[in-house]
Amino acid sequence: MTGRAPRRPKRVATTLAHGGRHPELFDGAVNTPVVRASTILSPSLAEWEAKLARMLAGEPGTYYGRFGTATSHGFEEAVTQLERGHGTIAFPSGYAACAAAILSQVSTGSHVLLPDSVYFPVRKLASGLLARMGVVCTFYDPTLTPAALADLLRAETRLVYLEAPGSLTFEMQDVPGIAALCRSRGVSTAMDNTWATPLCFRPLEHGVDLSVQAATKYVVGHSDAMLGYVACGSREVLAGLRRTHEDLGYATSPDDAFLGARGLRTLEVRLERQGATGLALADELARAPEVERVLHPARPDDPGHALWKRDFSGACGLFGVVFEPLPRAALEAFVDALELFGIGASWGGYESLVMPMDPARFRTATRWSYGGPCLRFHAGLEDPSDLLDDVRGALAALRRAR
Ligand SMILES: *Cc1c(COP(=O)(O)O)cnc(C)c1O
Repeated sequence: MTGRAPRRPKRVATTLAHGGRHPELFDGAVNTPVVRASTILSPSLAEWEAKLARMLAGEPGTYYGRFGTATSHGFEEAVTQLERGHGTIAFPSGYAACAAAILSQVSTGSHVLLPDSVYFPVRKLASGLLARMGVVCTFYDPTLTPAALADLLRAETRLVYLEAPGSLTFEMQDVPGIAALCRSRGVSTAMDNTWATPLCFRPLEHGVDLSVQAATKYVVGHSDAMLGYVACGSREVLAGLRRTHEDLGYATSPDDAFLGARGLRTLEVRLERQGATGLALADELARAPEVERVLHPARPDDPGHALWKRDFSGACGLFGVVFEPLPRAALEAFVDALELFGIGASWGGYESLVMPMDPARFRTATRWSYGGPCLRFHAGLEDPSDLLDDVRGALAALRRAR
């Protein structure tokens, strides 16, 4: 990229404000505009040929709309600085980023280890496209120590996939320990880091090779775009990912990349507020006698708390609640009494959400031992006192309906 590069690495909030912006290239405009393009013109035959050579050599540049324009490249540049990576590729959704990270590392005959708490569509990838390709996937208990995980590695194991905290169930993993084990065995690692974002945990700094983010969630932050990215720890890993990105014809919309870059500017203040509100809500719910367990690694009573405290610098606003067995009417009364929590999937926007979940349906390597209903909460940017009042009102409705 041309433009003013920072003279020295900056702290996170400064990178969020300045990363990937090049006003000098866009008439002084503070934000890189939405550059919509398929064809990119060359001014002469010689420049066309030089550009083609740079493209074939894998050098960064603007060559064709499918490979990104200034808008997505600016977003990728900011993310690379945040993740302290070698390079980043944007994807048209978070799931596309998960799938590409895996596909970039495997071929027929490869073995992949996936955590039992993995984001559900990745589980479907394992039994679908990966199985058809002849890639063998096995699921592991996400709470295994690196030593126990070592026993599951095979000669053909190419990739250990991580996600911490786990989707729906919020188990923590010993990421540095697993990454070190894999590196010593020549096995790659990829981590879905959507919950923490690079503000609370940076996988590449802990030895992970590919850091995957569903930017749809906190990076975009406003529930109005689909976007993903994979940040890579080395030149070789980036080259493999670029090849997969090209092979599959992924193209990220410049409008969505623009919204991703815009989201970065306020990511830290949103996360701080939403993380604190989420913890306050989790604490309130944990005090209710009808709640069997709260799933939130930032709470000291959580089984993953020690790992969270050792490795993570904060939390987002997403957590789970396991109720004791309840009549259906009581659960319904609770959820329907909530006025400020929309019922819906996805998360990371400015608004609060609640969603029923049934972890028992999605696991094969571990057993979900709770019998009561589970809800996933997302804390938005509403006034925390209003959200707490809403939850207290819903608990009262639950008690009336029992
Ligand atoms: C939502 C989500 C994804 C997928 O992101 P999309 O942008 O919805 O495709 C991947 N991983 C995790 C942990 C998620 O929560």
